[in-house]
Amino acid sequence: MFDALAERLDSAWKKLRGQDKITDSNIQDALKDVRRALLEADVNLQVVKEFVAEVGEQAQGSQVLSGVRPGEQFVKIVHDELVKVMGESNVPLAVADSAPTIVLMAGLQGTGKTTATAKLALHLRKENRSALMVATDVYRPAAIDQLKTLGQQIEVPVFELGSDADPVEIARQGVEYAKTQGVDTVIIDTAGRLQIDQDMMAELARIKAVVQPHDTLLVVDAMTGQEAATLTQTFNEQIGISGAILTKLDGDSRGGAALSIRRISGAPIKFVGVGEKVEALQPFYPERMASRILG
Ligand code: GDP
Repeated sequence: MFDALAERLDSAWKKLRGQDKITDSNIQDALKDVRRALLEADVNLQVVKEFVAEVGEQAQGSQVLSGVRPGEQFVKIVHDELVKVMGESNVPLAVADSAPTIVLMAGLQGTGKTTATAKLALHLRKENRSALMVATDVYRPAAIDQLKTLGQQIEVPVFELGSDADPVEIARQGVEYAKTQGVDTVIIDTAGRLQIDQDMMAELARIKAVVQPHDTLLVVDAMTGQEAATLTQTFNEQIGISGAILTKLDGDSRGGAALSIRRISGAPIKFVGVGEKVEALQPFYPERMASRILG
């Protein structure tokens, strides 16, 4: 595993031969390679800097094991630290003490928010938990139709009040409706813009204040790379997120956004999207993502 990086590290570590401990002076070249690998995986620059400094500290004083390629030994330290930062194990969707659990979806337009809403609903159905999807994106009438089409496909009802209603009111009534129907989980799809804008943020904040979600999930497109960090920071500061869904991981992105999101918000990535189909949702596993980031 990680042969390319391990090989690069091996050559950087030639000077380690004959030394039995990793020290600040003999580690610098190796850390440069780790830094390059993380940047290639699109981890945010600031996050890379902090992470590399931590790995350096972590590695210092470690014994250079005989019989193990130094590159491999170092890659293991980096890998384990990545897993640790990304949260060790999978964090499932929140479950409310009394139904319905309310999940609020947030994110920019085109990231896969509406698709992820349906993917989540299908995931719940497979666990025998009933779901209701609420369509609050009144700015793009096509968005309501898109959710309804997906709803028919996965046999999950959609609550909507057309495109003239107030999104906050739709969300509120959607939750009320779910209560009368004994629905297990309500997933509220919200409007996205191509770029973060204040009106969108204010509306999202109002919806959140009214429905008091148990989970607020930021949907992030893995292909956005470095941008994911700023996006996460803004949404977390202005709305407050409790988790994220990283979409489009079926593309060739190395998934560095996962590390940035977790570091910046402290919120776990809960699921990953791996295709356009409604079935293409998987729980997030830090171990797998660490391997992917290291390439
Ligand atoms: P929204 O504007 O955030 O609601 O985004 P949509 O759900 O409409 O998705 C935008 C586009 O991304 C659509 O063409 C989706 O089929 C596609 N998409 C969503 N999730 C994924 C994914 O995990 N992988 C791939 N390859 N495409 C996705």
